[in-house]
Amino acid sequence: MKNVDYFTFEGDKGSAEIDKQPDLCPFCKKHMTPDFIKAYKPTKDYSGQETLEIVFKCTNENCRGLFLAYYDNGISGMRAHSDWFRFNGSGGARYREIVEFSEIIDKISPNFSIIYNQARAAEGLKFLEICGPGYRRALEFLVKDYLIAKFPKDSAAIKGEFLGQSIQRISHQDIKDCAERAAWLGNDETHYVKKHTAQDLSDLKELISMIIDWVNLTEKTAHYKKTLSSKK
Ligand SMILES: [Zn+2]
Repeated sequence: MKNVDYFTFEGDKGSAEIDKQPDLCPFCKKHMTPDFIKAYKPTKDYSGQETLEIVFKCTNENCRGLFLAYYDNGISGMRAHSDWFRFNGSGGARYREIVEFSEIIDKISPNFSIIYNQARAAEGLKFLEICGPGYRRALEFLVKDYLIAKFPKDSAAIKGEFLGQSIQRISHQDIKDCAERAAWLGNDETHYVKKHTAQDLSDLKELISMIIDWVNLTEKTAHYKKTLSSKK
């Protein structure tokens, strides 16, 4: 038993007893005694099911993560009293790592980085059924924005056509080959029937990463060809 001070949604303060602190970190899975950070009670009044959410800090120095512990006061009628809460699991979303892309990529497609990182966050949370379509969407923005940057006059057509049609516009063969394959795998992540069973999400991510490498390289090459010429 332990007493904790909490605050409510309205900003009121109170104190409650909890049956125990979590002794296992949901992220690093290590047993430790976490540090108490703050407790929050979403509801103000005692009306049926009450919950308490407590932020704890993992004391494993290789982890150092903050996580949430969930408490309730038992099913209605079994409550000991209103200020008593029992531990009911812990967890929390931890995905603060952001992948940064080169200035070249960010300039070509500002949306790519946003969508890619959202897909990655979903993957980090093990939402494996929805991160694939997220990566597929990121790929579409990368390819279409790359082509729009190259052929601004065709912008409307590029925006409106299927991704596969856009890919056919890519003149650099290696980028085109990677983009085609990424689109096949991306479609597998989106559609009911998976056609390429030997490949998975990691192949899709690898292909996207290769497209990025190729685009960076060709854009940098173009830059130096344009700005640096022979002096005889
Ligand atoms: Zn931990």
